[in-house]
Amino acid sequence: MSDLGEIVKKSIKEKGLPLIEEAKTKLPLYVSVRELPLRFQFGTAKIQKFFEGLKEGKVYMTQCKKCGEKFFPPQADCPKCRESDMDWIPLRGEGELLTCTMIIVKPSTYAHYDNYVVAIAQMKEGVKVLAWLKIDDPRKIKPKMKVRLTTVEREPEGFITYGFVPI
Ligand SMILES: [Zn+2]
Repeated sequence: MSDLGEIVKKSIKEKGLPLIEEAKTKLPLYVSVRELPLRFQFGTAKIQKFFEGLKEGKVYMTQCKKCGEKFFPPQADCPKCRESDMDWIPLRGEGELLTCTMIIVKPSTYAHYDNYVVAIAQMKEGVKVLAWLKIDDPRKIKPKMKVRLTTVEREPEGFITYGFVPI
């Protein structure tokens, strides 16, 4: 049971209702006593090339053939000119660190991972990429440091994703 679950239990015991105070606004909040595990899903038919690329060790962005707008994560449709004619461009992987943060207090679904660094880097191709930065000692992180975007295996699940490593 989560901390929130404990708070709700306490509230029911004291007030007979699962009413709590919202942390920021202090307004009353009704909290369902049921905890719902959710598994996020989305269709990949139009961006399948991205996942095939990951299997081949490539990280793709898309670029609208009409207006030149670049997208990462890749999009199959350009929201600017409503075209679906995209170039698929593999990122060479060279980027410059813009910002990052180390996650120590994790969402419950990420609790099984060691502390991790979430970073945003400016890639040479002109897109910004958000990904985990794998670094043995976070004290080595410097502003504007060069990072490489690469495919990585996320343990313990073992699925292929992408991430940064220092250059
Ligand atoms: Zn466009």
